[in-house]
Amino acid sequence: FLPHLVASLEQVEQTYIMVKPDGVQRGLVGEIISRFERKGFKLTGLKLFQCHKELAEEHYKDLKTKSFYPTLIDYITSGPVVCMVWEGVGVVASARKLIGSTNPLQAEPGTIRGDLAVQTGRNVVHGSDSPENGKRETALWFKEGELCEWTPAQAPWLME
Ligand code: GDP
Ligand code: MG
Repeated sequence: FLPHLVASLEQVEQTYIMVKPDGVQRGLVGEIISRFERKGFKLTGLKLFQCHKELAEEHYKDLKTKSFYPTLIDYITSGPVVCMVWEGVGVVASARKLIGSTNPLQAEPGTIRGDLAVQTGRNVVHGSDSPENGKRETALWFKEGELCEWTPAQAPWLME
């Protein structure tokens, strides 16, 4: 227990990150996890999972009216995904920066999509777009008891 970290506890956010089926099929799981791990965020949930249609539809319900929605649901359910929850101060916006723009051709070099993908329909990774959605998506993809609360040994070397 690190008393000096308590002050920032209310600023700690949760984000739901997912390696999509193309990322898994292309052998990019380790590479993608590594980017969040090296940045200094805390992994609190991790599993390989075959997503079913109902879950994919609930996850992407805001996009239901889009023309690409049916192909998006097919894509996300086409093979296993790697589901993750990462925690930290500012993790939601920072993870979106690490991931890069939705269209990989517009994503900056150095970002996951900028380095590892070429097409919007195969953009290898998902990240929550707000702290509220971080909580919503975490609750959607992980059951009670699947998350792990822990204090990384490096904590005092990441936050003063
Ligand atoms: P994100 O938050 O950057 O992932 O982007 P959105 O929330 O706007 O869209 C969710 C996902 O839908 C994207 O990551 C893509 O996989 C897919 N998507 C979005 N726009 C398009 C599109 O124009 N065409 C296709 N094929 N897929 C799209
Ligand atoms: Mg989105």
